[in-house]
Amino acid sequence: MTDDDPSHDDGGTAPEATPRTDGGVDETTIDPWGSSTIADYRKLFEEFGIEEFEEILGDVPNPHYLMRRGVIFGHRDYSPVADALRNDEPAAVLSGFMPTGDPHIGHKLVFDEIIWHQQQGADAYGLIADLEAHAARGMSWDEIDEHAESYLLSLLALGFDPEEGTLYRQSQNRELQDLSFELGSNARFSEFSSIYGFDGETNVSHMQSVVTQMADMLYPQLVDEPKPTVIPVGPDQDPHVRLARDLAVRMRFFKVTEAYASFEAGSKERELIQLAYNALSTDDDNDVVRCEDAADWIEDMPVADRLTVARATVIEKLSEAGMEPVRPRVRFFHRHGPEAAFEAMIEAIEGEKRVYEGHIDAFELDLEEAEALAREVEVDNGGYGFIQPSSIYHRFMTGLTGGKMSSSIPASHISLLDDPQEGYDKVKSATTGGRETAEKQRELGGEADDCPVYELYAYLLANDDDGLAQEVYQECVDGERLCGGCKEQAAELMKAFLEDHQEKREEAKELLDELDIGLDSDRRGPGGSH
Ligand code: SF4
Repeated sequence: MTDDDPSHDDGGTAPEATPRTDGGVDETTIDPWGSSTIADYRKLFEEFGIEEFEEILGDVPNPHYLMRRGVIFGHRDYSPVADALRNDEPAAVLSGFMPTGDPHIGHKLVFDEIIWHQQQGADAYGLIADLEAHAARGMSWDEIDEHAESYLLSLLALGFDPEEGTLYRQSQNRELQDLSFELGSNARFSEFSSIYGFDGETNVSHMQSVVTQMADMLYPQLVDEPKPTVIPVGPDQDPHVRLARDLAVRMRFFKVTEAYASFEAGSKERELIQLAYNALSTDDDNDVVRCEDAADWIEDMPVADRLTVARATVIEKLSEAGMEPVRPRVRFFHRHGPEAAFEAMIEAIEGEKRVYEGHIDAFELDLEEAEALAREVEVDNGGYGFIQPSSIYHRFMTGLTGGKMSSSIPASHISLLDDPQEGYDKVKSATTGGRETAEKQRELGGEADDCPVYELYAYLLANDDDGLAQEVYQECVDGERLCGGCKEQAAELMKAFLEDHQEKREEAKELLDELDIGLDSDRRGPGGSH
């Protein structure tokens, strides 16, 4: 979900084939309701397990320019979405907007990401996080209505197809609220407290708005079937994504794992057993690998450092199992849901199986087949069968005045509602990465990586034209481009963009009226305290 208060990224390293910006080093904080600056994106990879987008760029069909230019820099588990898009299989994209102010060029990144996924075949969802705005920000319903309309107009003006996609307000989506209630029954105050710092002073509706946001992220999977779903957000929203991924797993009826014998083993223990099994098994069906043989093998063999922690425990378990054969299998644990679902699971498994109290071992399914079967049985028996949502993360834009881009500093950002001339003027007044004198600039080149104007080209003004972004970058760093002319060109492009966008917003009004989204709430109440 995007905040109304985008932080910023400073420039960094030199471009590759397509100009891109990289993060500098400062501090790492992740706070979805704060206005923190996330300056060191590399720390996000190391500390929070966000993966580098560049590594999967080649798997993405027709990547968007924000992907090509490294503006989308990270992801969590995006591969299932990329695979689905490539293979014309079901996928979804969803992001939400907290209507606390006017939409601006930071929000445009997310609008573009939603629309691009829709154009690639994903089911697209744009939502207005009005419950959150009311509970967490204390916004009045009148203010929310006004801003909600404005966000939706910009999303439509930029190309969102409402006939193919879905737009909704949290407050008016009963199905979403039912899901939120179910998720809430599997979420704990203690984890809200540790993730978000909630305490005894946090208002209860704020907590409820968190589970509503979790429900948003899983909502596309209520329609038709569970499917890979991507949530495009800024990295400050990662805690929400992680919690939604956890809850998606917690809601599942069955946990499916690989197993090798009757006892339970952790993932590292299983890896060790697999190694032993591979080493000891032969083509002769009569040559059975026993647990005690595997224990001896593991005891005698050097193992990778990361597996040593599991070595002693797995040897003990294998030794206790003694003569029991080691046989690869998949195990279905029944964790939630009706007994009928467990019975249906037993029925659905084909081939050799063994049924125990609370779990089933199947010997003729691989893990992928087993997971698909578990999801199918769950959905058929009243469960959701959620796939963990994926996410992609974009860099924050630098404020036009240098520092942070902030809604509360009008000169630092460009609202999509700014008068085009005002947009022009803001770009003309922007801070640059230029040198003190034209002479020095010609000699040393400009610092495009530290230039908010270059960012405007890369993130927005060059649009799909990589050639233009590259030309600006190269001419700048080679000293062939001076800031006055460069800003004039950018300012003209910004003016033209705003004129065009605002014209399209006007045209979208009729369409929005027809969509019946309910932009005139009759809700009452003062909203949450901050
Ligand atoms: Fe920025 Fe353009 Fe000046 Fe380079 S020439 S520093 S890109 S304004």
